[in-house]
Amino acid sequence: MTYKSMPELIGNTPLIHLKQVSELTGCTILGKAEFLNPGGSVKDRTALGIIRDAEQNGTLRPGGTIVEGTAGNTGIGLTLIANALGYKTVVVMPQSQSREKIELLDLYGADLRLVMATGYSDPNHYIHTARRLAESLNETEENGAIWARQFDNTANARIHEETTGREIWEQTDGKVDGFICAVGTGGTLAGVSRALKARNKDIRIGIADPQGSALYNYYTTGELHGEGRSIAEGIGISLITDNLRLAEVDFACQPTDAEALPYIFDMLKNEGLCLGGSSAVNIAGAVSLARELGPGHTIVTILCDYGDRYKSKLYNPVFLENMGLPTPSWKIN
Ligand code: PMP
Repeated sequence: MTYKSMPELIGNTPLIHLKQVSELTGCTILGKAEFLNPGGSVKDRTALGIIRDAEQNGTLRPGGTIVEGTAGNTGIGLTLIANALGYKTVVVMPQSQSREKIELLDLYGADLRLVMATGYSDPNHYIHTARRLAESLNETEENGAIWARQFDNTANARIHEETTGREIWEQTDGKVDGFICAVGTGGTLAGVSRALKARNKDIRIGIADPQGSALYNYYTTGELHGEGRSIAEGIGISLITDNLRLAEVDFACQPTDAEALPYIFDMLKNEGLCLGGSSAVNIAGAVSLARELGPGHTIVTILCDYGDRYKSKLYNPVFLENMGLPTPSWKIN
């Protein structure tokens, strides 16, 4: 089979059996290998969904500019797709994100604007900066500019409902008892939960919220409150986005970084997969959901991106020790 262009390579990722955590829990825990997307993450789907939607509703014109505030992966997906389809991208990103993602965006040709990492209420937060930039570029750019708006643009959840969620159902022949993942925009959780619940309302849907994020409290007590932060990038928020509002959630857990990270260290050493920090939180979440459901169940989670884009942090013993976090037991230097 021949593909006509890069966007056709997005999606249809395989499920992989996660051996160690399946043995640990007596469940079948499967990871959706989203790192195999051409931009290296689950966010390629979001980028494609948003671009296709903007093309269809006429806001994105040929040669137009796409502006987005992102932890990096959505910017990477948008930029690669934009290159393939003849658009330009302006990517606004907090400085706190990994050096590797910044370097990739630069390599791929995004017009990159790094801003201070601040709280959402600060007008200079990366999301507000992206909105303002899109408004002003729409006035000055010959072919106009759009703000991708991944947090509240429900084309994000829709593409996950139509692709990620449907694929999980088909790949398991409907024999899936639970699904769990962390939330950045909520697009993955909302889309997959809707696709699965529409086919079988008894499938249990969980949120694995990283330490410091406000959503665990929100789903367990109704109070949107969190303190501290996780080193996992791209997940953990303190607002209910329009995408997240669409999610159907039955279960919530909040693994600490110290609990989550050893799962990806073990995955690399024993199962040959080098995963990012959000995958660590997702796998820890899958273990919690497995314990909740009991042995014999099938649980799916998302392996969001590859760990090499966090080499300087997640797999750097000096960084980890400075953060007071466990280091891979097998890593000597
Ligand atoms: N993992 C990583 C590495 C991400 O970049 C993101 C998105 N920011 C997510 C998970 C969360 O996905 P979603 O936006 O669909 O909630």
